[in-house]
Amino acid sequence: MKDHPHLNPLPFKGEEAGLAPSPLWGEGGGEVVSVNRERILAWLLETKEPRIEQLWAEADEVRREHVGDEVHLRGLIELSSYCRRDCLYCGIRGSRKIERYRMTEKEVMECAWTAQKLEYGTVVLQSGEDLGLTSDFITNLVRRIKTETGLAVTLSLGERSREELARWREAGADRYLLKHETSDSELFRRIHPQARENWGQSLGAPASDSARDSPRFPNPRIGLLKQARTLGYEIGSGVMVGIPGQSYESIAEDIMLFRDLDLEMIGCGPFVPHPDTPLGQSCVQSPKSQVPATDTMTTKVVALTRLVCPDANIPSTTALATVNKERGRELGLERGANVWMPNLTPLKYRALYEIYPGKAKVVDTAEGFHQNLLATLQRIGRVPGKGPGGRPRR
Ligand code: SAM
Repeated sequence: MKDHPHLNPLPFKGEEAGLAPSPLWGEGGGEVVSVNRERILAWLLETKEPRIEQLWAEADEVRREHVGDEVHLRGLIELSSYCRRDCLYCGIRGSRKIERYRMTEKEVMECAWTAQKLEYGTVVLQSGEDLGLTSDFITNLVRRIKTETGLAVTLSLGERSREELARWREAGADRYLLKHETSDSELFRRIHPQARENWGQSLGAPASDSARDSPRFPNPRIGLLKQARTLGYEIGSGVMVGIPGQSYESIAEDIMLFRDLDLEMIGCGPFVPHPDTPLGQSCVQSPKSQVPATDTMTTKVVALTRLVCPDANIPSTTALATVNKERGRELGLERGANVWMPNLTPLKYRALYEIYPGKAKVVDTAEGFHQNLLATLQRIGRVPGKGPGGRPRR
């Protein structure tokens, strides 16, 4: 196991509070010398409050030192709820008989101008896996947003072909966001029933039958992220914390993978069961080995991710704000996160993009929400970010 290359040694301060150096810290002089899978695993299993408090404090300090007090604002535009996939956890999975929408170019541009007016540095175009969002439509949209607003553009449109990614990059798209969801390939395959059929196609290569049938077939999203990187995108991935069947070991593996992929953006949100999906009921009786989909476990993952990837952009997610309505967003920002993605989707579409319950209930106009956002940042001593907010590489 390699030691973490970026993490500067920080003095261990726990001794003042009567703590022995925790598993995260090495033996030498009580300093943060390395983070590896075993230490991450020990942290995920840690239950002692004072120790966990120390983790929050260290993550917050590393966040301040590496990415500062700015919170980058990315305006989220959920431009289509059509989806060709049937992920077992997602409320907009293709087989659900729900009302679907696809925004027009004019509607998307209005959202982008709102983002510009509110001084957000980036818009994130996200959707179900909708091939009705054609390559030309997205190319034109990216070009218009870049020329008419100058904002950074993040695309989060699922698994699309390398050719499409290359065209959109040429048109000016800056970032591609595609959560790998879990590094456990068996679990990935179980919760993405179409993954085998589609594997290879999105990478522009035909999948051989033997590879597709292998129980350890690779997660196609990881290959696609690497391709996006070679095309010059900033890349983002992430996981759902507490997916039924997810082990602590696999979460530790996810965090190591974040580092190995050298990601610019890392989004970790809790799994929120949607009752009308196959995984909607399955958290009721969970074994001890099951990772809980709680705010504490999610923020542990955020904090450890910050320590392992100190200069990454890490959002405090809407899913976290959904499982803890009072304090979720703030907890994320206080435990390592430095990005907030306010929703700019027109109100008439929000309830139709209900990937999990409770999300769509957070309804306020973009302007109304913005005032609350500024008040929250002020309360926790943070400031809105300026500019596109790319990763500050050291
Ligand atoms: N289609 C694109 C993709 O698959 O990357 C983007 C849209 S997808 C709805 C965005 C994210 O929603 C997924 O990456 C997944 O992590 C999250 N998501 C879906 N269902 C969820 C659930 N029940 N609980 C928490 N997150 C969920």
